[in-house]
Amino acid sequence: MKKITNNHGIDLPLAVWLLQNGYYSGADKAPEGELISVTSLMKPTRQAILSRMVDEAQEEMDLADLVASRMGHGLHDSIEGSWKNEQHVREALKRLHYQDKVIDRIKVNPDPKELDKDDIPIYLERRGYLEIAGIVLTGQLDFSINGAYRDFKSTSTYSYTSGSKDEDYILQGSMYRLIMPEYIWRDTMRIEFIFTDWAKYRAKADPTYPQARVAHKEFKLMSEIATQEWIHDKIDDIKTNVRKLKNKGQDGMVRCTDKELWRSADTWKYYSNPETAKKKGKCQKSFENEADAMIHLKEKGKGEVVKFPGEVKACEYCPAFSVCEQRKEYFPDD
Ligand code: SF4
Repeated sequence: MKKITNNHGIDLPLAVWLLQNGYYSGADKAPEGELISVTSLMKPTRQAILSRMVDEAQEEMDLADLVASRMGHGLHDSIEGSWKNEQHVREALKRLHYQDKVIDRIKVNPDPKELDKDDIPIYLERRGYLEIAGIVLTGQLDFSINGAYRDFKSTSTYSYTSGSKDEDYILQGSMYRLIMPEYIWRDTMRIEFIFTDWAKYRAKADPTYPQARVAHKEFKLMSEIATQEWIHDKIDDIKTNVRKLKNKGQDGMVRCTDKELWRSADTWKYYSNPETAKKKGKCQKSFENEADAMIHLKEKGKGEVVKFPGEVKACEYCPAFSVCEQRKEYFPDD
């Protein structure tokens, strides 16, 4: 277990809440074999391999870094609790104008083998296992309704508007359907967003911004064959890179890509005074590509253009940070 620091003096009531460990790997019920979770499999290959080399007892984690994940877990627990309260579900559905004959068909966490054809099953926090490509793949779904997968994400509005995580959502949902066909059988899923940074004034000013603190997006899942192929390819990639690591060390391994590094775009900055550029002072103009920056320099007839490589963010959140050599290129040890 990692050592805990409290660099921000978080008070005891919150500190104990933050240290609550809600993670359950499902290992005690898994079939024999190497157990890998869907979320681990989706990690960049380099990160997935190197994070296993980290000695957790030597690592430190600050309490403040646990806030986002604990808030996410708290929301999941609260949603689950609301659906497990039968009386509340009935009353809420009535207030939402559902008829009794529809409400009577809703069953929460029924045994899939005992379902009637008219039942509308809702499953919460179900775990499944699938033996595939020499491993046991496991995952836990948040919610499914009548065979359609739902996932709750407490996240930034940027994730919603940019679509930066859409591919990941689809891949995760597709693997869950493969693992748990008794709970998920429809080919569309929805992500239910609960925004952590929503602002009313932005909603008023921008119609493309989410208009409420919660919103959802619908996605079509990958086919079963495409999902199986993705899993086989990923396992092959991991095995190949484990071999390369053994034979040639980290230099022989696959590197994290700019996308996996969450690297922002390069910029080119124009300085009228080259001395200011040397001191990394304030530039006169910033450009997204070199050609535009050079045209500007020519027009001005003096000064200098300096390239600023895009900033890497993912390493700071990566469990392989302490052992990864590539990370040192962006976050040197000294
Ligand atoms: S530390 Fe950075 S470069 Fe290394 S595996 Fe993690 S994300 Fe990739």
